[in-house]
Amino acid sequence: PDFNLSSSKRSWGSNNLTYFIANRDNDLASEVWDSLIAEAFFSWSKVAGVSFKKIENEASANILINIGSGKEDHFDGPNGTLAWAYLPPRPNYTGQLLMKFDTEELWSSGHEAGFLLKNVAAHEIGHILGLSHSEKKTALMAPHYNKDIFEPQQEDDIIRIQEIYGKPN
Ligand code: ZN
Repeated sequence: PDFNLSSSKRSWGSNNLTYFIANRDNDLASEVWDSLIAEAFFSWSKVAGVSFKKIENEASANILINIGSGKEDHFDGPNGTLAWAYLPPRPNYTGQLLMKFDTEELWSSGHEAGFLLKNVAAHEIGHILGLSHSEKKTALMAPHYNKDIFEPQQEDDIIRIQEIYGKPN
């Protein structure tokens, strides 16, 4: 597959994006949840020309982060789909995209059992930025959860994201 071609079709029209956290799963304290999400965003801004700012205005945020469960939220109970996010529908998108985390998963900051929120959030942010899944098993954008991969990887994710947004400022 031609990842470069598909990536170039899906991008934001700005290198400065905002996000709003609407609701959090109560497996983790709110401030822990928010700091793991912030770390996941930073894992991308440190390798590509894109930055993120948390705002408190839901309507104007580029990225809306929420939780959900069950079929109506496109989830499937414990395991399986852990979270999902939309990709920009076209180049230079300027609207709002949604990311959701399944409340039926057990979420972890690394000190508890469960899925590592930072790893899953970093993967979903890759989608939000326009990356489809990678065929490389060791890539952050590989389709399956990997407890050891918590940030974009040099041989795959970073090359792909820099093709869209350039190098970090
Ligand atoms: Zn994915």
